Amino acid sequence: MRVLVDQDLCTGDGLCEEIAPDLFQLAADGLCYLRQGGQLLRGRGPAAVGQVAPEAEESAREAADECPGECIFVGSSSPQEPDPAA
Ligand code: SF4
Repeated sequence: MRVLVDQDLCTGDGLCEEIAPDLFQLAADGLCYLRQGGQLLRGRGPAAVGQVAPEAEESAREAADECPGECIFVGSSSPQEPDPAA
């Protein structure tokens, strides 16, 4: 499953990091970024789209549901499903 965080909408409350700390992290600028392979994805648009391992999909969806900024977008890896960066 693919995931994207839109930092323009992020409130910096850290809920996503509490729910899925392996996937989301607040940075020094107070905004949330995806964690991928131990690194923060700092790109924008398609460059900011990360992958969620199958075992982490439930927590990623929960983080997206709870996000007060509505800035976490999740989508399938399937070409038939919406791209979160679209
Ligand atoms: S839950 Fe949403 S608004 Fe809050 S820090 Fe995470 S991405 Fe930002």
